[in-house]
Amino acid sequence: MNIASEQIRFDQQHIWHPYSSMINPPAAYPVVSAEGVRLTLADGRELIDGMASWWSVIHGYNHPALNAAAHAQIDRVSHVMFGGLTHEPAIELCRQLVEMTAEPLQKVFLADSGSVAVEVALKMSIQYWHAKGKPDKHKFLTIRNGYHGDTFGAMSVCDPITGMHEIFSGVLPQQFFAPAPQVKYGQPWDPRDCDELSQLLAKHHNEIAALILEPIVQGAGGMRFYHPDYLKQARILCDQYDVLLIADEIATGFGRSGKLFACDHADITPDILCLGKAITGGYMTLAATLTTTDVGETISAGGAGCFMHGPTFMGNPLACAVANASLKLLRQSDWQSNIVRIEQQLKAGLAPCAELDTVAEVRCLGAIGVVEMKQAVVTADIQPLFVERGIWIRPFGKLIYVMPPYIMSDEDLQALTAGIYAVICAHSSTV
Ligand code: PMP
Repeated sequence: MNIASEQIRFDQQHIWHPYSSMINPPAAYPVVSAEGVRLTLADGRELIDGMASWWSVIHGYNHPALNAAAHAQIDRVSHVMFGGLTHEPAIELCRQLVEMTAEPLQKVFLADSGSVAVEVALKMSIQYWHAKGKPDKHKFLTIRNGYHGDTFGAMSVCDPITGMHEIFSGVLPQQFFAPAPQVKYGQPWDPRDCDELSQLLAKHHNEIAALILEPIVQGAGGMRFYHPDYLKQARILCDQYDVLLIADEIATGFGRSGKLFACDHADITPDILCLGKAITGGYMTLAATLTTTDVGETISAGGAGCFMHGPTFMGNPLACAVANASLKLLRQSDWQSNIVRIEQQLKAGLAPCAELDTVAEVRCLGAIGVVEMKQAVVTADIQPLFVERGIWIRPFGKLIYVMPPYIMSDEDLQALTAGIYAVICAHSSTV
C-alpha cells in the first residue's frame, strides 16, 4: 500500500503528533501494518519495534487471540454507556485485576487513558480526606524526575523542569517535591535517601492527601531505576503521617520490570494503584485505578455520596474484551522467564555502548534497556539512522531506550542492540 506524498504533507501541515511543532515538523513515518515485533512502512520497509508503542504492545502486533477478542466483541456491542448499565467484558476484566493485584485492592475504576487514571487517583485522595473531615489535606507530595501524564492534575505532579512548569505556573496547583531517589536499583541501600521525603511529610502532612510516585522505575521523567527500600520506606512514612500512597504503575504494570507490578520489588501495597498502557496489549486506550475497600467506602460515605467522576467511554466493552484476552495471555505465559531472558540480552547487547565516550551510563531492568548519553540527542537527526538500520526507537533528551514486546526473539533483540550501538557510533562521529 502506498501513502501519497500529498497525504504526508497534509499530516505535516495539519496534524499534531505527540509533543510536536507546527513549524516544519519532520515527516512522520507512515505505518501500513504491523505483525509480531515488526512495523511495515508504506514503502515496504520493516522495522523491529523497540518501543512496543510506548510500553504497551507486550504480546506483539496483530495477535490472533487479541484480534479474535476484538472481533467477537464488536459483533455484540462495541460501546454502551456505563452509567446504570454493565457488561461481561468489564466484570471479567475487573475480576482479573482484583485477582492479579494485592489483596487489599478491591475497588476498580475504569478510566480511558493513563492521565485520566492519575486524575482519578488524585481526586479519590482528595475526596477521601474530605469525607474524613480533613478538607485541608488536598495537596500532593511527589518525587522529582516523575512523569504522570499531560492533564493538569497529572502535570502538577510531573517533574517541574521536564514538565515545563513555568509555562503553566499560573494554573497548576503547587505541590510538594522531594528530590528524586539517588540510590540506584542494585546498589547498597542508604537510609539517608529518604531524609527529605521524611522531612516534607513531617512538616506538611496536614496539607498532603497522598504521595504519588512511579514505583522503582521512573519512566518518561528520566528512565531511572531506584532502590526498593526507598519504596518500602515511603510506605512506612505514609502510614506514619496519615498520607495515602498512590503507585503509578501505568508504565511498569504487567511484568515490565521483572515483577508483575513494580511494587512487588519492595513487597508493598499502595492505597491506590494506576494501571494502563499494556492492559489491552496496546490495542486501544484503557486504564484502571484500583483502591482499597477503606478508600472506596470512605469516599462513598462522604458528603457527595459517590465518587465524582464518570467519563463517557468508561468501561468501553471493546477495550475491556481485548484487555481480558491480553491479561489471560499474560497469565498463561511464562512471562517471568521471558523478561529475565530479555534483560540478559539487553544487558549483553548494550554493554559495548558503555565504552563509548559519548555515553554516560547503560542500565537495564527487566525488559527495559537505557543508554544515557552525555549530551541530549536531536531526535530528528538520529531517528532516520535507526530507521535505516531497520529498527524503531524514539529517543528523548539524553536517553536512547528500549522496552520491546515480550515476544521479541533473541535474534531480534541482538539486531536491536547492535543497531543502537552502531547508530551511537555513527552519530557520535558526526557531532
Ligand atoms: N503515568 C506514567 C508512569 C506514564 O508513563 C504515562 C504515559 N507515558 C502516563 C501516566 C500517562 O498515560 P497516558 O499517556 O495514557 O495518558
